[in-house]
Amino acid sequence: MPEYISTRTNGEDEPRSYTDVLLEGLALDGGLYVPTEYPHLTDHDIRMLDSLSYPELFVKVKSLLVGDSMSIMAQMGLADAAYSQEKFPETHRGDIVPIRQIGSNLYIQDLSKGPTAAFKDLALQALGQDMNYELKRRGEVLNILGATSGDTGSAAEAAVKGLGSISLFMLSPLNGMSDFQRAQMGALSGGNIHNIAVDEPFDALQSKVKELNKDFPELGAVNSINFGRVASQVPYYFSSYLQVMGGKVGGQVDFVIPSGNMGNALAGYIARKMGLPIRNIIIATNENSGLDHLIQTGRYKKEPSHITTSPSMDIAVASNYERVIHDVLGADPDRTRLYMEQFERTGMVDFRDIGRSADLLKQAGFDSGISNHEKRVRTIQRVYKDTKSVIDPHTADGVGVALERGQLDVPTICMETALPVKFEPIIFEALGFVPKRQARFEGFHDSSDKNFVMLPGGALGSVALKKYIQENALTRV
Ligand SMILES: *Cc1c(COP(=O)(O)O)cnc(C)c1O
Repeated sequence: MPEYISTRTNGEDEPRSYTDVLLEGLALDGGLYVPTEYPHLTDHDIRMLDSLSYPELFVKVKSLLVGDSMSIMAQMGLADAAYSQEKFPETHRGDIVPIRQIGSNLYIQDLSKGPTAAFKDLALQALGQDMNYELKRRGEVLNILGATSGDTGSAAEAAVKGLGSISLFMLSPLNGMSDFQRAQMGALSGGNIHNIAVDEPFDALQSKVKELNKDFPELGAVNSINFGRVASQVPYYFSSYLQVMGGKVGGQVDFVIPSGNMGNALAGYIARKMGLPIRNIIIATNENSGLDHLIQTGRYKKEPSHITTSPSMDIAVASNYERVIHDVLGADPDRTRLYMEQFERTGMVDFRDIGRSADLLKQAGFDSGISNHEKRVRTIQRVYKDTKSVIDPHTADGVGVALERGQLDVPTICMETALPVKFEPIIFEALGFVPKRQARFEGFHDSSDKNFVMLPGGALGSVALKKYIQENALTRV
């Protein structure tokens, strides 16, 4: 049964259970929680998953990471609540993460059928359920502070809306989100959801969250530093593999993953460690291409992030990279700490500086490619021409990287990370029309700020924010 330790400590710290790390966020020494060992599934075990509905498969796989900190019965109830028909209205029960073929050996896995039309729903719906269950069991409440540049905000809000033991404070930049995203978040305001628009860019808001976490260490996290989110993404890799292979196990596949913070790619890497026959985890980046450079050259360099037309991937430093590096360095906490501290101090690290070869990540199964606006537009056009389906710009970054690889010698599965309805301008640029809105999104026209608490930037805003959280935080009764 896995226990969880920080990437940076030698186990002097008490190991944690899955439910402990779920409620804790970052480890006290600044590292991220990882399991001490990964469970292994045989080909036979994997084949047995094929007959299951998605919630059942989800529990079979994820429970191996949860260990005995939650009963299987409880996990089954939580999975049914997370992946209900009501929350995934365009799916049939058991068909939450379907596969479609778009070319020779080329597939897309649809991951965006959830309430906010983003793959983040899959992890956050499960995380919200897990957290609420564990809080109730412990008789505790949790106040969560997060910052969003768009997708995370609404997905996290839809996941915890109405859950009695959680309050969510979500900071967003006053300028910078799309009208659709603002309307989507605004519609979720009220009750336990506090939307706070701050007159500052997203990067500054992330620093504010860190700063406030020092004043209120008991605040919880919903970003992918929370291992509960990563654990909830591992199962869909097993599902897509079985769908593409027709239930047979043995042959290898490649996955192409549009990446920002590397949470999704890490989940794929864990699936591979657990025995799923994955050849390559191919990271697709947009113009913010630091991860591609890292995988191809062994050198990771912190660059300022640019705003692009696949904005959810505009990340300068991938927060889950530390978990990957910890694993490829043989789970050695001292090396991990030295490597990460050098990166934090100088903004640059190179595998050769620690006596490892430049292609360390390639040896571990990673590969990569870069997309940009022009390729994104061309890929949206090409997929529409070939299949009559409209894909979103992030998914297009992945599909574009897959297409550039030429003849595909193994089945290649591209992860869909959002629906195009959220990104109308680039779809209009590529295709000359805006994507059709699913019935459940037809009401999203009101992008006014009336459902947001408005705060100024800078120190003045920080003081007001602290006061707002103190006055509105849930307290245990
Ligand atoms: C969050 C997000 C990504 C990046 O996922 P990571 O797990 O952070 O790498 C890609 N596309 C979309 C649409 C997203 O919302």
